[in-house]
Amino acid sequence: MLANGATIVQYMEQLAPKHYAVENDKIGLQLGTLNKPVNKVLVALDVTDEVVEEAIAEGANLIIAHHAIIYRPLAKLDTSTPAGKLYEKLIKNDIAVYISHTNLDVADGGVNDWLADQIGIQSEGRTCLEEIHTDKLYKLVVFVPESHHEAVLEAIWRTGAGEIGNYGCCSFNIKGTGTFTPGEGTKPFIGREGKLERVAEVRIEVIVPYSIHRKTVSAMLKAHPYEEVAYDLYPVDLKGRSFGLGRAGKLEEPATLGELAQRLKAAFDVPMLRIVGPADQPIRKAAVLGGSGARYVRHAIFSGADVLVTGDIDYHTAHDALAAGMTIIDAGHNIEKVMKGKVAEWLNAKLKESKSNTVAVASKLATEPFTFV
Ligand SMILES: [Zn+2]
Repeated sequence: MLANGATIVQYMEQLAPKHYAVENDKIGLQLGTLNKPVNKVLVALDVTDEVVEEAIAEGANLIIAHHAIIYRPLAKLDTSTPAGKLYEKLIKNDIAVYISHTNLDVADGGVNDWLADQIGIQSEGRTCLEEIHTDKLYKLVVFVPESHHEAVLEAIWRTGAGEIGNYGCCSFNIKGTGTFTPGEGTKPFIGREGKLERVAEVRIEVIVPYSIHRKTVSAMLKAHPYEEVAYDLYPVDLKGRSFGLGRAGKLEEPATLGELAQRLKAAFDVPMLRIVGPADQPIRKAAVLGGSGARYVRHAIFSGADVLVTGDIDYHTAHDALAAGMTIIDAGHNIEKVMKGKVAEWLNAKLKESKSNTVAVASKLATEPFTFV
């Protein structure tokens, strides 16, 4: 069985929920339909004409890419322009395009974490450079008969609910008496139609982040024996985990700026990169931001990092960084290509789990527009 486009996008949004994206970012389905069986997914950084040719040759009818193909509302679709030609070719070949951009950058285990891993930034104590989204916290309260107390509690915990700071499996449980009268046509787990019941129950209270509340409630309902489950889900005025752009943290192996640059050439598979600052400067803590990092130099300084690894640094930003005593490694925007293999890997694991015949492949094409001469 082939997976539907909508199902594949659901897997994608488990990794990178849409609400993580920065305001006005162009993400989601941009062209075609998700309402079709997908033979193959091609994962690409950019959708160029060559990438579309690759999708056709691969028999892929869905492209998941990092960079958008439509940035502003189209006034017309002129197929004699390069962009118009690209859209025409995609439509004629029934290839849909779905974009996962800043939501994938922000995601826990997304582009910025993959880059931080490649740089050798320790995962322990890793922080974001700019907060984008904070998970709202909810309180789930459910009443369960004593016989099913542990099973329901464990089902709730398994979804990741009940975490407070570094403490897991947090909950509060009070014994009490539940009452109910099963109405006409009911099939009660305990009691009989029309007879008032008093049952020894436990009231379970658990903190649930908004991002997982659907998963938690559905797991709780599945483990609960009652036909009609009594539960409350209400917002609490507490801040949950935050998610953001960029990462900063200590290097597994400290190095000089020059040594780190050499290391990153190999890690990122780039022929050349630019450094700003003295090559012998010791680097213990590094910050990274995939894409254009010019706006994030001060965030990197604020994080206490000795270097910012990023792309698209311009002349004046480099001068400002030098004046502030901040070093930079400009490895190019294209290092975000790490997302191709990682996203394909994530989708294949999900597709395999659901026993689907659809597969995801990473684009083999380099979409680096610059050539070093
Ligand atoms: Zn980018």
